[in-house]
Amino acid sequence: MTGKFCRECGTALVPKELKNEGIVPFCPKCEQFRFPQYNVAVSMIVVNEEKDEILLIKQYGRSTYILVAGYVSRGEALEDAVRREVKEETGMTVTHIKFNRTQFFEKSDALMCNFTAFVKDDSEFDPNYEIDSYAWFTRDEARANVRPDSLAKYFLVSYLDE
Ligand SMILES: [Zn+2]
Repeated sequence: MTGKFCRECGTALVPKELKNEGIVPFCPKCEQFRFPQYNVAVSMIVVNEEKDEILLIKQYGRSTYILVAGYVSRGEALEDAVRREVKEETGMTVTHIKFNRTQFFEKSDALMCNFTAFVKDDSEFDPNYEIDSYAWFTRDEARANVRPDSLAKYFLVSYLDE
């Protein structure tokens, strides 16, 4: 449904030419262009710098490992979302971050933005209720254990291959 109806009045949008932008969805009732909206999320390769290990987690009853991730709040900077989500989900303080890459994820209608989030060690590690189980892996183990055919795998392998 995203982008087919006006988010203010529910009227069906029609394609209309907008100068310098090309064809943009337009609401004939509001007489406003409605640029497509979507979610923004961050995905984190959490690295323990002391041991050079990567954190992978299991969530939602699934049996395979993925990366820590979460939605970005409106008005929030991506780098702040990275620090907040890692703190909320794992208890750990991120010391510095590195931007990796982004990919649109159709299933969640979200632009996924991947970062490496470095933590000094795992002394603060205290996973919250959103994490079913977890493990710290060496780089090779992480590559072998991340969920096949997942966006997490795409991000992780791209990072490890750099
Ligand atoms: Zn409208």
